[in-house]
Amino acid sequence: MNFIETRGNDGQHPAEVSFSAAILSPMSSFGGIYVPKTLPQLGIPFLEKHLDADYKTLARAVLGAFEIDIDPAVIDKALATYDDFDDSNSPVPVIKVGDRLFVSELYHGPTRAFKDMALQPFGVVLSDLAQKRGEHYLILAATSGDTGPAALETFKNKPNVKVACLYPDGGTSDVQRLQMVTENAPNLKVIGIKGDFDDAQNALKLLLGSTSFRAKLQEKNTLLSAANSVNFGRIIFQVIYHIHSYLELVRQDAVALGDKVYLDVPSGNFGNALGGYYAMKMGLPVEKILIASNSNNVLTQLINNGKYDLRDRSVVATISPAMDILKSSNIERILFDLFGAERTKVLMQQLNNEKHYELTTEELARLQEIFAADYCDDTEGKNYIQAAFQDGYLMDPHTATCFKTHETSETEPQATIVYSTAEWTKFSPTIANALTGEVDAHDLDALKSIAKEANTAIPAPIEALFGKEVTQKTVIEKEDIEQEVLSFL
Ligand SMILES: *Cc1c(COP(=O)(O)O)cnc(C)c1O
Repeated sequence: MNFIETRGNDGQHPAEVSFSAAILSPMSSFGGIYVPKTLPQLGIPFLEKHLDADYKTLARAVLGAFEIDIDPAVIDKALATYDDFDDSNSPVPVIKVGDRLFVSELYHGPTRAFKDMALQPFGVVLSDLAQKRGEHYLILAATSGDTGPAALETFKNKPNVKVACLYPDGGTSDVQRLQMVTENAPNLKVIGIKGDFDDAQNALKLLLGSTSFRAKLQEKNTLLSAANSVNFGRIIFQVIYHIHSYLELVRQDAVALGDKVYLDVPSGNFGNALGGYYAMKMGLPVEKILIASNSNNVLTQLINNGKYDLRDRSVVATISPAMDILKSSNIERILFDLFGAERTKVLMQQLNNEKHYELTTEELARLQEIFAADYCDDTEGKNYIQAAFQDGYLMDPHTATCFKTHETSETEPQATIVYSTAEWTKFSPTIANALTGEVDAHDLDALKSIAKEANTAIPAPIEALFGKEVTQKTVIEKEDIEQEVLSFL
């Protein structure tokens, strides 16, 4: 299957590209991104057939339906990365937490956040393509805390790929920062930026679009790629777990095959929710996708009022920092799918130039057929963490935002699947505060008090982080990023 561009074709890019081309070089005409030309139709027979399939078998079938130009042996190798999750047979457990409420836990991989779901297998695919083509790639990643560790972990010591990872200094949790700055491999560079995540992401987009930067890389025999969530090589792996979670509900007798469910997704750059949207379009029985945000509630406004408005707005720091995002990149793919390339180009250019756009009444109605949204502020989030804990479920602040959306959306009598995107260990000071009232605890102290409260152990790899040597010490102004990256190469 081939890929086309969300803002139409400028005549300088190929009209369509293969999957491997789209993931190796994800920027397309007019600053758009790649989308599949059509989506495979799976429908109920596919679900029926895979009702008892294990995760990897299901994944192979879903990826197979996309007919991508990746060797099946490489796909097997990529999916084998799920063997390193907590339970290799069941990398994504789905837990019943309420009457018709389930949590699909996406954080059982090496860096304890859902980014592993896509980045672990993606790293294998990308490195293999680079080796087969005899090419060397630089992956530039901008992270609000979870993409960075996951990207570094997946590409660590992988041939033909180097990673430079930008993170907002002070904008991540201790655990997230330690996961990055203690990574020690010759092909990895971690760079702290004085600024917020949007600054880091903007810097990344500038570099990705800069021809002079590209030319300088070429002198070093290096091509540029990106591992951020606009890369379809990540999105494709995010379709799978939505289908898996639904089948898990059927297996648990919570729904009958064909019954519709709600997907409730804590959203930032909208990669996770987009995976759910594609799964729905491929025939997964979904009533609606609930979009949960924190106080950076641009998505709530878009879905409830049809207005994407960044005027007089700047990112506010919340207890769910992976969602502290105002420019949600993957919304563009939804715009394209619903309203076409011409309209997407107009809207995205308006957002770039005037910092806002507004959908028509008809467009908003179409969006609302698929999505509903709400946002959860920090106080509410902590209350949900506390309430869930009293009911026996320990969750992180990103997951907590979904509980608000669930509560304010009329989901009954259907079942809802909440996606849990991080383990409690990654955001322990907030959780300790919610559970015990202690303020400003350092991560390690917070981890200990939660472990005690929940009568559980701090996972060994997390505890070990605090004794590891910090090897990545660079923190710079955003103007100096290009130079820093070039000297790393
Ligand atoms: C990245 C991330 C999100 C947001 O996911 P998107 O796909 O960008 O919408 C939510 N929670 C956590 C913990 C994350 O790491």
